Amino acid sequence: CYRPTDKSTVLEKRRAHFGGNLSLTYSDPVMLVRGWKHHLFDEWGRPYLDAYNNVPHVGHAHPRIQAVAADQLRRMNSNTRYLHPAQTAFADKVLSKLPDHFEVCFFVNSGTEANELALRLARAHTGAKGMVTPDHGYHGNTTGAIDLSAYKFNKPGGVGQADWVELVEVADDYRGSFRRDDPDRAQKFADLVDPAIATLNSKGHGIAGFIAETFPSVGGQIIPPKGYLPAVYEKIRAAGGVCIADEVQTGLGRLGEYYFGFEHQGALPDIVVMGKPIGNGHPLGVLVTTKAIAESFDNGIEFFSTFGGSTLSCRIGKEVLDIVDDEGLQENASARGAELISGLRALERKYACVGDVRGMGLFLGLELIHADGSEATEICSYVKNRMRDHRILIGSEGPKDNILKIRPPLTIEAEDVEMLVSVLDEVLAEINPAE
Ligand code: PMP
Repeated sequence: CYRPTDKSTVLEKRRAHFGGNLSLTYSDPVMLVRGWKHHLFDEWGRPYLDAYNNVPHVGHAHPRIQAVAADQLRRMNSNTRYLHPAQTAFADKVLSKLPDHFEVCFFVNSGTEANELALRLARAHTGAKGMVTPDHGYHGNTTGAIDLSAYKFNKPGGVGQADWVELVEVADDYRGSFRRDDPDRAQKFADLVDPAIATLNSKGHGIAGFIAETFPSVGGQIIPPKGYLPAVYEKIRAAGGVCIADEVQTGLGRLGEYYFGFEHQGALPDIVVMGKPIGNGHPLGVLVTTKAIAESFDNGIEFFSTFGGSTLSCRIGKEVLDIVDDEGLQENASARGAELISGLRALERKYACVGDVRGMGLFLGLELIHADGSEATEICSYVKNRMRDHRILIGSEGPKDNILKIRPPLTIEAEDVEMLVSVLDEVLAEINPAE
């Protein structure tokens, strides 16, 4: 029902009526009108391999999601001021995936809102204001969440760093201050939190908490060395703060071996934030926390979100988590992720411009570099756009935008992995002939 000629009209209207900082991926943008599992189709019906979108966690256009959404919309859709078994069923399902100390769920509409709420909870529980967070992080688009997102506030044109925020170096052991040949790097990165705590205390803000993407994504698909988060959490708790794990990108089985990233670290956060994939495209954010923190927040002022925890959202959220279990998608992430990593490692050996291959399950990054080891931003942009010419969608990330980001729906199959690796091989050969 879309005419192929619509694409230029859409582009024109978008330029005329949308904000200029609403960005489009790829120099030749794609218009996508249908999806199925990890495939997308453009206005001509041409298929694309979606190796980038983490939101359609259980695949685009999943029939079970269509069915529960349609069923619930036929019945009613209302808010948390009325009882409905879908709300408690969703909470039970979320909590069943987490350690027992998490007992309370808050439902909102996005990862941003969940992080904004996490900030309020941390402040209500501690009575303090100061927050520590790794550099280059991203936690959302509202005023409070931007203040916690160095990736945004530190950019030219950004609002700058709030005085209640202290940044610590991201625990990147490929490019950061402590490298993989240093067995104490986790502790050394964690020790950087000490001066941040001291600064916030000296300014009189105290320590409300620490927030981090468990595996920094916009920072460049980084897997911090094991033991980093527990060491940080210990320091934050000793200073009176709460520890917030932003699992928007890493949660719900994407990592294969772990349902949540904090499990890899052996860390136990006080607040866990989920978003994006948990609604499979329906706007949904979830925050879980301990009874004690929820009680501090329950201070007489009602918490209410009109759409957060709606009947429809709860039915969809529970269905997504059920599908991950029923279709063995965490196991698939593990198996396909292992195949991808081994294919990408072969490319790392073949091409000098591939400096590092890192990740876990279907959360992967390929750091592209020049001969002197510096960040190859333009090569990364070239590769991403050439992959798009081959109708394979991947993205790019990192402070210098030189890390190819591969993060497909969890439904991806072995033959798609093979195709991705062989096309990437061809594209890399265009810029960096094999040695
Ligand atoms: N946290 C992380 C780690 C994210 O990647 C994002 C979105 N990219 C958010 C929070 C914000 O989520 P949303 O855009 O759904 O509000």
